[in-house]
Amino acid sequence: MDASRTRDHAPHNVRMESSAAPRDLGRFDVVVVGAGLIGLATARELLTRRPGLRLAVVEAEEEVAAHQSGHNSGVVHGGIYYEPGSLKARLCVEGAALMYEYAAEHAIAHERCGKVVVAVRPAELGRLDALEQRGRANGVPGLRRVGPSELREIEPNATGLAALHAPGTGIIDYPGVARAIRAELETAGVVFHLGTRVTGLTEAVRVVLDAVGPHGPVRVSAERVITCAGLWADRLARRSGADPDPQIVPFRGVYLRLRATPTPVVRGMVYPVPDPTLPFLGVHVHRHVDGHVMIGPSAMLVPSRDGYRLSHVRGRDVVETLTWPGTWRVARRWWRTGIEEMAMASSQRRHLAAARAYVPSLAAEDLDGSFHSGVRAQAVARDGTLVDDFVISTQGAVTHLRNAPSPAATSAFALARELVDRFEDRQS
Ligand SMILES: Cc1cc2nc3c(=O)[nH]c(=O)nc-3n(C[C@H](O)[C@H](O)[C@H](O)COP(=O)(O)OP(=O)(O)OC[C@H]3O[C@@H](n4cnc5c(N)ncnc54)[C@H](O)[C@@H]3O)c2cc1C
Repeated sequence: MDASRTRDHAPHNVRMESSAAPRDLGRFDVVVVGAGLIGLATARELLTRRPGLRLAVVEAEEEVAAHQSGHNSGVVHGGIYYEPGSLKARLCVEGAALMYEYAAEHAIAHERCGKVVVAVRPAELGRLDALEQRGRANGVPGLRRVGPSELREIEPNATGLAALHAPGTGIIDYPGVARAIRAELETAGVVFHLGTRVTGLTEAVRVVLDAVGPHGPVRVSAERVITCAGLWADRLARRSGADPDPQIVPFRGVYLRLRATPTPVVRGMVYPVPDPTLPFLGVHVHRHVDGHVMIGPSAMLVPSRDGYRLSHVRGRDVVETLTWPGTWRVARRWWRTGIEEMAMASSQRRHLAAARAYVPSLAAEDLDGSFHSGVRAQAVARDGTLVDDFVISTQGAVTHLRNAPSPAATSAFALARELVDRFEDRQS
């Protein structure tokens, strides 16, 4: 995916200004809001459990996987990083297995190419030990500690003092997964309202969703609703009367693309040892299923939730970010990291230098000049905590997925099961 694929995502910018009566789009048993991987997998899970369900998916954009699900690293994570016992730890390991199974059944491009996490400084060895313990506690398949020479055998261009090798970590075409789920759902009779942004959720006898469709205001009603709205998750939650805490703060990540070469510089993926206090994994070098090798992502707070380009500013997003007390607490704590990330965003040389620490052969001439960007939905609590785990909450007849950062794409099918379990618990 290159920069030419990024665009303005206008439906999220549409305001409901028309005074015309909303057109009725029908009544359903359940409406899922958001057609990213999680919304789609959730609709699929609902239908698998109750085949006759009258189900609709309402999505602001004209296509599925238009935001995070189509703008990520394309990695099927193994489950190394996550706090044992957390939802992420359990659902990543379960979800990776389900994701590979789905890809194999639906002929979606994927490869278990493996990943190494490399310690390059003595100070990182203790953190590598801690990661190894976490990975083992989480049941990451095949996880092994390797020394410098074995590291070279696995990834000939990587150097370091020690590494963790996760051979089951892989790469996949996530937009392809999303398209396949959509096709399955449509065949099963699920109604898709694309280009339709939900602007209000009102609970009376049913939940009434007010929305703006391609031709003006529309209304959908449902017995129950599940929202999987990614970067806009907090807004929908607030609209149904839920607590504003946590709020989504957008962090843009940029990947630089390398020139195509007969032998790619990496066989799979090479990652640094991450800062354990941050929810980001650091700049890594990884192969995409289309064969290209990417370096990234950076992580910079940006002035719009669909800020695929740095110049893209939305007043409302800026105001919401700046008036949220958690943003200032994050800024006070992480200002140094913030400055480093800004420097990286403005300099390809610095971006490259981060990757050269563990793949030293990389040079400026290897870059092909194009980039790809994604915006992470990072939930930030009022007290400034960067919320790490997946968060699900229910408000009346509406269940919200309020935080679904990485590895939510990997975990999609398992996270969908969890969401539907909780949704059904509330129903009984
Ligand atoms: C740079 C980056 C790299 C990442 N790398 C990986 C990785 O390698 N592996 C991994 O497992 N995870 C990765 N992730 C995380 C992963 O992509 C996300 O966690 C996952 O895609 C979230 O899916 P989702 O369905 O919750 O959200 P999204 O894909 O963002 O979908 C939410 C949808 O809801 C719609 N929506 C929002 N508001 C409304 C509304 N009011 N009305 C109607 N529709 C609405 C949006 O238009 C959007 O389509 C990465 C994320 C980023 C940004």
